[in-house]
Amino acid sequence: MTLAIVVGAQWGDEGKGKPIEILAQQADLIVAWVSGSNAGRAMVIDGERIVLSLVPGPFLRAGKDCLLAQGAALDPIVLLRELDLLGTTSGKMLVDQRAHVVLPHHVEIDRLRNEIEGASGVPRTGIGPCYADKISRRGVQVGDLLVPQRLDEKVRGALDAAAPVLKALGGAALDAGPIVADLGACGERLRSLIVDGSALVDRLGREGKRVVVEAPFGTMVDMDAGTYPFVVGGTCVAGGASAGVGVAPRAIGPVIGVAKAYTTRVGPGPFPTELFGDLAKKLQQAGGELGPTTGRPRRCGMFDVPAVRYAARINGFDSLVLTKLDVLSGMDEVPVCVGYHLDGQLRDEPPYDGLSRVEPLWEKLPGWSVPLKGIGTFEDLPENAQRYIRTIEQTVGIPISMVGVGPDRGETITLRDPWTKR
Ligand code: GDP
Repeated sequence: MTLAIVVGAQWGDEGKGKPIEILAQQADLIVAWVSGSNAGRAMVIDGERIVLSLVPGPFLRAGKDCLLAQGAALDPIVLLRELDLLGTTSGKMLVDQRAHVVLPHHVEIDRLRNEIEGASGVPRTGIGPCYADKISRRGVQVGDLLVPQRLDEKVRGALDAAAPVLKALGGAALDAGPIVADLGACGERLRSLIVDGSALVDRLGREGKRVVVEAPFGTMVDMDAGTYPFVVGGTCVAGGASAGVGVAPRAIGPVIGVAKAYTTRVGPGPFPTELFGDLAKKLQQAGGELGPTTGRPRRCGMFDVPAVRYAARINGFDSLVLTKLDVLSGMDEVPVCVGYHLDGQLRDEPPYDGLSRVEPLWEKLPGWSVPLKGIGTFEDLPENAQRYIRTIEQTVGIPISMVGVGPDRGETITLRDPWTKR
C-alpha cells in the first residue's frame, strides 16, 4: 500500500494544494477526511465561473476519483448542487457511508451564533454543530440516507434535541417532514457514489495503487497537539488518517509535511516569530496572505524551526515540502528561529506552557535579491537561497523533497521523490 498523507506542518494555509496536485497526477484516489479542505476553488467551465466549497472539481475533471472519507461531515444538498454545476466528469466523487450529514439545523445554529457573536466572515457551513451531534451520538450518517425509516427516526431525534438550542439562540424549531423528504431524495441521487471507503482504500492498496490523503489545516491547530484553545475542532495530524479514513496505522506513508518558507497564522494565539510593521506588510503583500473569505491580512512571521520540528516528530515526516520561497526574495537578511529561550532554558520544541513568552533564538542568514520565478533546479537557485533550504533541512532534521518558487504547479523544484519513505 502506498498511501501518501499531506500534512500542514505549521498553523494551516501552508499551500498544501500544489503538492497534492503534483502527487495526485500519479495517484488513483484523492481522499479527505474533513470536507472541503482540498476544494474551495473557483473554476471556469464553458466560460462560466463557478465556486466550489466541497467538491474538488479540478481532480474530478482530470479523471481522478475523490473520496470524502468516514471522518468527514458534508451537506448532501450542497454536494449535489456542486456536482450539477460541475457537470459530467470522468472522475467520481465518492462519499463514505459512515460520513456524517450536515442537517439544516446545523447551518441554522451557525447562522444564529454568527449573528449573536457578530463573527462576520466565519463560514456558516454547519460543520461544527454537525460534529457536536456526532459526538453526542445523535448524528445522521450518509448510509442513513438510503434507509427511509431510519432516516426519519434519526432526523426527528436530532431536531427534537436541537429545538431548545435553536430557541435559546432566538431561532425557531424546524419541521422534520420536508427535511426528511429532501434528504431521502438526495440519498437516491447519491446511491451509486456512497461507498465503504475503508474497504475501497484497502483494495486499491492491495492492487498496488497509489492514494493521496490530505490532512486538514495544520499541526499547530490540531485539536489535541496544537496550541489549545486556539485550535480547530478536529484532527489535523497524520495519525488522524487512520481513524478518519479507516486504514491501519502501518498502511500510512509516506507522510509529507508542508511548510511555508516563513510562517503565517490566522486568528488569535501565541506566535513566537511574528513580525510587525513594514516587514510583516511586505510578507502579507508578496505572499498574498489575506484570508480568502474575510480578506483580512494573515499574521506573518519568520520560519519557526521548533514548531516544524515538533510537527515532524509527531507526524513522522518522510520529507518536507517548502512552499513560497520566492516570497522571501529581496530581503537583505533572512532570520530563522532555531530555538526558543524560556525562563533561562533553551527549548527545541514548543512548550506546553509559555509559548507566548518564548524569545526566539535567531540564526541570521544572508538574503538573496533575484526573483526565483522560472528557476527549475536547486543548483540554479541563488547560493543564499540554497543555504536557506539546507539550514531548514538540517535544523528540522527532515529532508526537503520539493520547494515552491511560484504559485503555478510547474513552479516547483524537486529535490527528491516525495513518494519515497525515509
Ligand atoms: P492550503 O490552505 O494549505 O491548501 O493552501 P493553498 O493550497 O490554498 O495555497 C494558498 C495559495 O498559495 C494559493 O494561491 C497558491 O497558488 C499559493 N502558492 C502555493 N505555493 C506557492 C509558491 O511556492 N509560491 C507562491 N508565490 N505562491 C504559492
